[in-house]
Amino acid sequence: MKEWTVVVVGGGYAGIHAMKAVWKQCEIQADGRKLRLILMDPNPYHLRKVLLFKPAVGTDSITVPWNRILPEASEFVQGKARHVDAAESLLEYENSEGRIEHLAYDVLVVSIGSIARKTEAGLGGIALEGMDAAVRIRDQWIHNMEAALPENKEGRERLLTAAVAGAGMTGIETASELAFAMREEAARRGLNPEEVKVHLLNSRNRLFEEGPVKASRKLEEELAKCGVSVHHRNKAVREEKGSLLLSDGSALPVGLTVWTLGLIPNPAVRALGLPVTEDGRLIVDEGYRVKGSRGVYAIGDCAHIVDPDSGEAARMTCKEAIPQAQRLGKIIAADRSGSPAPRHKQVMDGFTIGLGPGRGITWTRKWGLDIIISGSLSYKIKRFVWDYASMLKS
Ligand SMILES: Cc1cc2nc3c(=O)[nH]c(=O)nc-3n(C[C@H](O)[C@H](O)[C@H](O)COP(=O)(O)OP(=O)(O)OC[C@H]3O[C@@H](n4cnc5c(N)ncnc54)[C@H](O)[C@@H]3O)c2cc1C
Repeated sequence: MKEWTVVVVGGGYAGIHAMKAVWKQCEIQADGRKLRLILMDPNPYHLRKVLLFKPAVGTDSITVPWNRILPEASEFVQGKARHVDAAESLLEYENSEGRIEHLAYDVLVVSIGSIARKTEAGLGGIALEGMDAAVRIRDQWIHNMEAALPENKEGRERLLTAAVAGAGMTGIETASELAFAMREEAARRGLNPEEVKVHLLNSRNRLFEEGPVKASRKLEEELAKCGVSVHHRNKAVREEKGSLLLSDGSALPVGLTVWTLGLIPNPAVRALGLPVTEDGRLIVDEGYRVKGSRGVYAIGDCAHIVDPDSGEAARMTCKEAIPQAQRLGKIIAADRSGSPAPRHKQVMDGFTIGLGPGRGITWTRKWGLDIIISGSLSYKIKRFVWDYASMLKS
């Protein structure tokens, strides 16, 4: 009997949860056809992207081998999707040796995600773009610490100062982890940890403007306890000769600038030949079906997904990508059997942010009330979320 082939392209948070959901919903086919489920990704591992700040502060691994998380009977193809021929149900990809190959599918799920927004050349500092960049960040502040001799007061102040430019979730978590790691390392080297300074530059009026003022205030208080000072309505412009020029005309002496300017859709999306929005995200309906492309679905950061009831567009977060993937399993099964399929629904408001080892802050809105939890309980919630997102916990 012929197989029914589902190919999931991209093994980030959306992709791995889609693999699990498709397996759960479609393992048994009404027509008896056997499900062949394939994941394609350029890397031989799942990258725990939300922990990208970890290699910037320590040596913990943030990758997970595929065989630890994928359904046992599924297959993995190491490769990079290049183009989709939706009329012929054919995916063109580059394999791990650089050769162009083709894969036929019955259903294709595109979840190739996003990349970090890059800085323009010549602005100095290091953008937290991937694992290599994270390692360079760590090398830089360790090197600074080695040079920060007790007798060199003036130079020491600069060398023990770091700035994080961009105060979204990544910037906040990176700044607090950096402050914690740098203070610990300073103490270990006999330097005064109180001399370590981390500045977080926020171009907006307050942190996390999507949430209530109360949550932003609490977040800022918790950051201050970690040793992070927040500068609102101020942007980093350029780092030059140990000085970071800010948009208000002032300058900070810094030994390191880390740029965390948010995410943009993966540029590879445009080359796939599927319909995209102006900013390069795949256009889908309320069931994640890519417009005019039979059998092709898209979820996660690479898709432009709008709640059909509220009109609200999904943001680039794994907290949204995971429920999309779980719903997609049911949608694909419903489409296959011709029954009514679920529709996209925006997730509840809220955030959980890690603020260095053992600390965090969680905000959620329930029954019209703002619920805020901080400290070690919040960190436990965050750790669970990190593990759940990478399917290390069910
Ligand atoms: C440091 C950091 C912290 C974050 N913290 C949070 C947080 O606390 N909470 C939260 O909700 N969100 C957070 N985010 C955002 C979150 O990481 C993203 O929204 C999430 O990763 C989206 O998942 P995704 O599967 O759509 O895409 P991605 O995670 O980007 O995964 C895309 C996958 O596609 C693969 N791929 C790329 N190109 C191709 C190709 N051509 N062919 C095949 N495969 C390809 C990649 O290798 C990758 O495995 C954070 C992001 C960063 C960078």
